[in-house]
This record gives sequence, structure tokens and C-alpha cells, in this order.
Amino acid sequence: TKIRVYQLAKKLGMSSKELMTKLHELDVNIESHMNTLEDEVVDLLTELINEEKDSKGKNNSNSKKSNVKDKREEMQTEKNIIHIGKKITVKDLADKIKVNPTQLISQLIALGVMAAINQEIDFDTASIVASEYGYEVKSIQVEEEENEKIEEDLLDFEDDPETLQPRPPIVTVMGHVDHGKTSLLDAIRKTNVTAREAGGITQHIGASTVIVNDKKIVFLDTPGHEAFTSMRARGAQVTDIAVLVVAADDGVMPQTVEAINHAKAANVPIIVAVNKIDKYEANPERVKQELAEHGLLPEEWGGDTIFVPVSALKKQGIDELLEMILLVAEMQELKANPNRKAMGTIIEAKLDKGRGPVATVIVQKGTLNVGDAVIAGTAHGRIRAMIDDKGKRIKKATPSMPVEILGLSEVPDAGEHLYVVENDKKAREIAENRKEKLRTEQLKATQKVSLDALFEQIKKGEVKDLNIIVKADVKGSIEAVKQALEKLSTDEVKVKTIHSGVGAITESDIMLASASNAIIVGFNVRPTTPAMDLAKREKVDVRTYRIIYNAIEDIEAAIKGMLEPEY
Ligand code: GDP
Repeated sequence: TKIRVYQLAKKLGMSSKELMTKLHELDVNIESHMNTLEDEVVDLLTELINEEKDSKGKNNSNSKKSNVKDKREEMQTEKNIIHIGKKITVKDLADKIKVNPTQLISQLIALGVMAAINQEIDFDTASIVASEYGYEVKSIQVEEEENEKIEEDLLDFEDDPETLQPRPPIVTVMGHVDHGKTSLLDAIRKTNVTAREAGGITQHIGASTVIVNDKKIVFLDTPGHEAFTSMRARGAQVTDIAVLVVAADDGVMPQTVEAINHAKAANVPIIVAVNKIDKYEANPERVKQELAEHGLLPEEWGGDTIFVPVSALKKQGIDELLEMILLVAEMQELKANPNRKAMGTIIEAKLDKGRGPVATVIVQKGTLNVGDAVIAGTAHGRIRAMIDDKGKRIKKATPSMPVEILGLSEVPDAGEHLYVVENDKKAREIAENRKEKLRTEQLKATQKVSLDALFEQIKKGEVKDLNIIVKADVKGSIEAVKQALEKLSTDEVKVKTIHSGVGAITESDIMLASASNAIIVGFNVRPTTPAMDLAKREKVDVRTYRIIYNAIEDIEAAIKGMLEPEY
């Protein structure tokens, strides 16, 4: 009563050939359609084939498969990548891959996953279904780590010492208002231009290069410590040397002190330019004395600060100043490896009507080339053209060179690092990732250096210094507050006043605090409204007190970790 292959085929409504293929798939050895079949084999086959027929009728799986296939081909033209976290709801996934949620649900059921529209499915399941629609799914976490690693690699300051070559110094001019910062910068540029290339047009790109004894010096065009510190608050430090301009007829003024403290907080050496020496009232000796009180001791008094008397107006002392800058630069042994992927800092950026986003970067490592794929903050792109400070189109920019670049997707913030990455695709990916991250960060409005957070950091051993900025209504209180707070230093935490002054808490104080991870203690003074806004944005902890004892109590509590959380 054994059944032959052709008989079974007839029974199942298929050709003998089809049945034989099926049998081979099941590893049943059959040579001819005249062969007889074992009972078990017959049962198995009948079951299998009926099941297939069933599912064909119910789910219409064949046409679905071809639907998916069509969709996939359609998508593949623009290589779709979606980013998801550990979990995602069916609805959100459907949105992301642009399919009807019900369709997605049946797709999931086919995979054996029962999920309602608002239910979450895990990353792996989401990847599998999404790939059916031609989407590549990337994990936000994994990619973040990956990109952070790329950034770390890019930042890695450990260039082999053998690869390092001298680079020009980058200088910022600082000082009190009206002491002659702008005039000095002008004088420097003019003396230099007339000597080298008369009539040469200097282009404003945010920095200028001058050549002294065949050596280059780069000056940042925006004088003052505000720009300097706001860059630092973004984690960028480009300045190697600060030139502190002090008018000899006016002496040390509040912003002079600010500038000193900002430069010191950044560990940048200071060269003093005692300006306006052409004036009858000029008193350079007084300037020296006043600066000595702030820790800038001239060499002839046993210190190591270089003082150069100048007149920006009469163009006196400019060459000496430039030579001193080179001397200090030489002592600093400023070096960088020019033979690697470039990394730099954006010092200025704007949207140009005709040219799109333009940004000036100072190259800090490596060589930047036209055609390089770059990333700066959330801006990315391929460098279309580069222009130097003389308005000349160039193809390469080596360390310390300021260049204007064209080709970014958007205007980056000043202070943003610029990196060269493998290719456009990677640049875009990193930018997208950063945007996503920014969004989540904006949601978490955590304070940058709140006293509460401080204790956490102390515990973890992340913080050794508690930097504070003291502002008070009268000079007498400053000293009292400073001393009282600094006395709270323990073996683990050193309380350090990085800046102090009389008057309201200003934006400049906030930027310094942000750049130096400091908190601000105000004594009988309040922040100005713009400073308050900035503090919120920069997440700087500003604490104001009327009674010194309360300030002491708070700081002590933070150090000891007993501070009540603030609401
Ligand atoms: P900034 O606010 O520090 O940039 O100062 P400016 O460069 O704008 O200069 C302020 C004023 O001081 C201007 O009127 C300048 O002409 C004047 N000034 C600058 N340098 C000198 C100088 O060396 N001698 C004299 N007599 N005046 C100067």
C-alpha cells in the first residue's frame, strides 16, 4: 500500500518534479517519480505543504514579501540610516521608517513578536524589521561611543615628539577700555604691511599674521578678555601669549585686573605693553608698581614679566614688542605636528549672502586642505575653498595659521573645535549625532558647577580646587570674604579665588566662571540682568549673600558634602 511519488504529487496538486525538489530539500533520497515513499515521509510532506498553502491564503505573505522588496529597492537609492536608543515604540519606529503601523505590527507578528502600537520593542527587533524596509539602524549609545572615540583620537595631544615642529605663537591683546588695544593692533599690522607688501589689502577674517625677522606671529583681531574667555568656556584655548595693554597715563584699572586674572586662569603668559608713553602725563614706573601688586613683577625687580614701553599712536616700541613676543614664544617651545589630519578652533563665523556659511579657523594641529571633510560642532561639510588673512586663496593651512573656510553646512559657534574626518558621510553622522545629543542635553538642565554637584565631584576625586570668584560692594569685604573662604581649604579641596572685584556680577565674571569651573560668590551685590541670563545658559552657580557667615557655611557644607540640595 505504498504510495509512489507521482501519485502523491497528483494528490497534493503539484507536479512530480516540484514534489521531488521538495523531497530533496527534506533530504529524502529519491531518484525517480516511480519510487515509493515511506508512510512517515508522506505524512510529513502532506502536513508541510498544506501549511504552506494555508499561510499563503491567510496572510498573503508572498505579495507582502514582494511589497517589502519593492519598498526596499526604492529606499536603497538614498541609504537610509535611523538612530534609535535601547527601545522604541512601534509607532515611533513606524514613523521613522515611514510605514503604516499596522503593517509594521503584522511584520512583527511574522517574526513572532506580539506588540501593540504603543508598546516598546527592543533594539535588535527594531533593527530586524527596519532592515526589511531597507533601513540601517544604529544605536545611539553605540554610535555616541564610537564618535566620542573618534573625537578622542582626533584630540589626542600625544603626537610623537619626533613629529613636532615649531609653530608660530597666537597672541591676544587685552587691557582696560581706551588703553589702546585696537590702536596697538593697527600699529602692529601697519608697520608690518608697509615693510613687506605695501598696499597689501588685509582681509578681516578674525586674525592676522605678521612676519618679524622671518618668523610669523598670529594676532587675534578681537581684543579683550571677554572673547578670550568665552572661547575658553567652550573648551577652546588658542591663545599662547597675552599682551596686556596698560595706558601709562591711567595705570591699572578694573579691566586690567580682570584681564590679568583671566589670562592667569588660563595659564597664558603675559607681556605688558605700557602704552601712550608719548603722553606728557605718562608714568610707566607707576604702572610697574601697580602691576607688581597683582603679581606681575618686572625683571629688574627680580620677577619674570616682560614690560615694553610703547606708543601705538607714534608707532614707537612696536618692533621691540614683537621681538619680545617671539622670545616668549621660543621659551614656550610651541610645537605641533603638521603631518596629520588637521584639528583647529573656530574663532569667527557668519552667514555670507553669496558664499553661505564662512568660518575662520586657526589650525592647531596637522595641515588643513581644500577638499577635506570636516566637522565643527553640529556643522559639517567639505572644504570648498580657503582664504588667508591677506585675501589670498590657498590650498593648505599649517599649524597656527588662521584661514577662512567655505563649505560648511551651517554657521558654527566661535570656540568650536574643527576636525578633519575620513569622509563626508562620517562628518554628517557625527553632526547628526551631536544634534541629537544637544537635544537631550537641553532637556537636562543640570548646573555646571553647582555647589551640590561639587560634592559629587569631590567624592569621585574629580575636583581638587574649588575655584571661586568674589564680587562685593566694597573693597574691604572682598579681602574678608576671600580670606574666610580660602581658610576652608582641606587636604582634599583647595579653595582658590581666581578673581575678585568691586561691583555687580557681570557677564565677564560668568564667562570666567564657566571657563574655569568656578562658582561666583556675591557679597552685597547682585548679577546684572544679562549676567543672570548668561549664568542660566552657561549653568554657572551664582550665590549672593549679605552675611559672610552664610557664605562660609555654604562653602564649608559643600566641601564636607552636607549641603542641602537647592530647589
Ligand atoms: P581700546 O579701547 O583699548 O581699543 O583703545 P583704542 O585703541 O580705541 O584707543 C583709545 C584712545 O586712545 C584713542 O583715542 C587712541 O587714539 C588713543 N591712543 C591709543 N594709543 C595711544 C598712544 O600710544 N598715545 C596716545 N597719545 N594716544 C593713544
